[in-house]
Amino acid sequence: MRIGLGYDLHRLKAGRPLFLGGVRVPSPKGLLGHSDGDAVIHAVIDALLGAAGEGDIGRLFPDTDPAYQNIRSTELLRTVVRTLRRKGLRPDHVDAVVVAEEPKLGPHFEAMKDVLAPILGLSRDRLGLKAKTNEGLGDIGRGRAIACFAVATLRKIPKRR
Ligand code: MG
Repeated sequence: MRIGLGYDLHRLKAGRPLFLGGVRVPSPKGLLGHSDGDAVIHAVIDALLGAAGEGDIGRLFPDTDPAYQNIRSTELLRTVVRTLRRKGLRPDHVDAVVVAEEPKLGPHFEAMKDVLAPILGLSRDRLGLKAKTNEGLGDIGRGRAIACFAVATLRKIPKRR
């Protein structure tokens, strides 16, 4: 079995749209980033790449490359799933914990699954999404950043004969 771990954190800035899990979440602040700043997808990508032995998101999509400026992270995730497929691998299970003081994310998880499960080729019960606050502590607790942890397992795509 192959397992990968991913982590990401982005700063929040007033007036930016907030994208998490491929969904635009209503919020007065959004995540800063070269792409759309979607820390959930970035953590999932790093978990998938780690499990595949393919390095990390920065190696695949350098933030110095203008091609990825303001790109939706869902597009990056599609590319990663294609990269896995070329190696004969596919996602088997993904689980993520988002650490955010606000907004409340629970009500948005179903919409995130609507977006992410088809890209990952997973049934909804193989995609876990959970949210925690940071209990008001540190930069996340003060609403200056959102972080996400993710794990992924991969399975081999059976060879056709
Ligand atoms: Mg990131």
